[in-house]
Amino acid sequence: MSAVVKDWMLVRGVVFHLDSSLPTEAKILLEDFRLAVNNAIRAGLQARVTSRNALVKIAYKDFREQHPRMYAQHLVSAFEVAGSVLKNHRRRVRKCVTVRIPFVKRLMMKAENQAYKLNRKSGVIDLPIRAGCHVELRLVVSQYHRKYLDDMALSLGSLTVLPDRVIVAFRKDAPKPYAPDSVISLDTNERSLDGVLVTDDAGMAIKAEFPEVAIIQQRHHDRRKRLQKKKAHDRRTIRNLCRMEGTREHHRIDYRLHEVANSVLKFAEERKSAIVLEDLKGMRRKRSKELNRRLSMWPRRKLHQIIEYKAQWRGIPVVKVDPRNSSRTCPICGRIQDSRMGTEFKCECGWHLDRHINASINLLQTAISKGMAGGLWFDPGAFQHDVMMILYEPAMAARSEPNGTSGIPGVT
Ligand SMILES: [Zn+2]
Repeated sequence: MSAVVKDWMLVRGVVFHLDSSLPTEAKILLEDFRLAVNNAIRAGLQARVTSRNALVKIAYKDFREQHPRMYAQHLVSAFEVAGSVLKNHRRRVRKCVTVRIPFVKRLMMKAENQAYKLNRKSGVIDLPIRAGCHVELRLVVSQYHRKYLDDMALSLGSLTVLPDRVIVAFRKDAPKPYAPDSVISLDTNERSLDGVLVTDDAGMAIKAEFPEVAIIQQRHHDRRKRLQKKKAHDRRTIRNLCRMEGTREHHRIDYRLHEVANSVLKFAEERKSAIVLEDLKGMRRKRSKELNRRLSMWPRRKLHQIIEYKAQWRGIPVVKVDPRNSSRTCPICGRIQDSRMGTEFKCECGWHLDRHINASINLLQTAISKGMAGGLWFDPGAFQHDVMMILYEPAMAARSEPNGTSGIPGVT
């Protein structure tokens, strides 16, 4: 069978700091670019168009006159940025969210890959400002950055220049996911990923813990509450302070989620495993406000996003399945229970297992029954034992290499 394979380009934005502050010419370019973007937004709103090409058609000539010295490629790129702002705006108008006329406040500029040069050895960017005027941006290059600069399988995408840093997009063709030799099935909980690894001849329980995520959420929630009480008279201040709190919280949680995702993916890659996750898209919100916050879905969705994205980049297959009843079903006899309380799942047929591990077995069975996990077969009964392999736990954050994989693989 010869199928036409659609090749995907994966993009990863890598942040670089600059060796020294931005040259004056570049600062002026940022201002001009922002002005051009905002003018293009206005022109697009008036003409009711949102695509870059349509914007170029209606506004390029005027723009050339208004910005006679700007490098033509940058001008086109400004239309591109304006186009995406306009599309967002249109989406929100359609959703009937009350929206203001969009306006770009942040100083920024974007250059497509033909519109700048990056010397990948020296880490110097040559950015044209206008005919006969270029500036050099010297990047601070760490070991982390070297990985991207030296990997010639990665091509350069757009460059985003901000007042204090630049973002270089690296692109590559999505690698074809490998044919798995084993499967990891994971149930995603508030404080951990719990699941099983199943290979041809063995199975074992696995776990990656991130209790700090819930703790951080709680701490920031309390802090926000206090802020709201203290500044009750000033709505705008509350909003700003809370937004700052939220950003900080997200950064701190993000960092941990990346660590967890990395250890799961490393484990999967070493065993050529496919990863089964629950599809969180349809999860309904809990009723009470308190429960809603405590069990906030955001970190779980975010963790899935990170795992899926990194897996795609590394060619690790990921399968998502409907989690309905996964925490209430007995994998042996198929009975569905009414309640899902308690840390252990117990069934009338005599089956009992850690509730989260049990859920992951159900997810795996769904994946297998739908033919999404290759030709793997497994016996749920094999998991009733106490061997548990820890892929990640908070103490590992302090070490450079997680050594959780030094357990006893294959013990049943
Ligand atoms: Zn049962």
